[in-house]
Amino acid sequence: MTHHKPDADALGSSLGMAGYLQKKGHSVQVITPSDYPEFLHWMPGNENVLVFEKSKETRISETISKAEIIFCLDFSGLSRIQDLTEMVRKAQGKKVMIDHHLEPENFADFVQWDANAASTAGLVYKLIVELNDQSKIDADIANCLYAGLMTDTGGFRHSNTRHEEFLIAAELVRLGANPTMVSKFIYDTNSLDRLRLMGFVLSEKLKVLPEYRTAYMTLSAEELKNFGSQTGDTEGFVNYGLSIKGIRLSVMIYERKDSIKLSLRSLGNFSVNEMARKYFKGGGHKNASGGTSDQSLDETLKKFLSILPEYKNQLTNE
Ligand code: 5GP
Ligand code: MN
Repeated sequence: MTHHKPDADALGSSLGMAGYLQKKGHSVQVITPSDYPEFLHWMPGNENVLVFEKSKETRISETISKAEIIFCLDFSGLSRIQDLTEMVRKAQGKKVMIDHHLEPENFADFVQWDANAASTAGLVYKLIVELNDQSKIDADIANCLYAGLMTDTGGFRHSNTRHEEFLIAAELVRLGANPTMVSKFIYDTNSLDRLRLMGFVLSEKLKVLPEYRTAYMTLSAEELKNFGSQTGDTEGFVNYGLSIKGIRLSVMIYERKDSIKLSLRSLGNFSVNEMARKYFKGGGHKNASGGTSDQSLDETLKKFLSILPEYKNQLTNE
């Protein structure tokens, strides 16, 4: 299973792992705690994913309690699977955590965890190789894993992109991954609505606080609705804030059905993981984290602005 609102790394590493386990003769069910963006639906195995919704609660709960092994991919805290948290906590099956987020919880029986790894997909690749099964990786598995590696490195651009990420990418391509196809599916299948939403965000909503080297944007439920927004339509917007010269911290705050979601990005030593943990019940990586708030959108923005002075030195020191 993946974390709530899985991204390409969470879904790609899960479907890649599932493909591999199936080849080994196992019976596998991928479960996600929520829906996910349409630009991930191309992934081989997507048609068999069990997506949590209230009406499927009994079936999912049974599947989880019957499982001999539960693989937890791209998350290391049980709260990240929302409605599935208690089902997994109580499940008798062995738990295997494969992840690269900071400050993992200790809930699993087996752990393949490395915070220096850029992607969980890369860790799945390494696990398969460690098991001497590289030859079991076919083009479908390779494309799923490549998608996670490509997106979690921001297209091999973020500071988590080491020599090793290129080596893994090269092997996945040799095994059949198609970089042109994967990037087309993920980055270049916009709906016109999403592009218009992006235009609106960049022209009307993006704010810059040069004194804090910070950029931020907010999106209300109504604004999202006006652009017919779908799950995943806001993905990547927060990076535009960081693309501004001199900006070190970028935050996007937007309204979801039941809470306010924050996406935080930073450059260099400034840790958004620390900020997300301390103030927004979240976490992630040093330079890319997320969090939530139970307050309103306006109150959440006020809270964010009110904590900036605490970070001013860190943000403005060279
Ligand atoms: P995003 O801003 O793209 O949703 O997430 C950025 C990173 O932070 C991802 O690695 C994601 O898994 C992690 N993340 C997002 N939201 C949360 C959250 O609410 N809690 C924690 N612990 N991590 C999060
Ligand atoms: Mn990841």
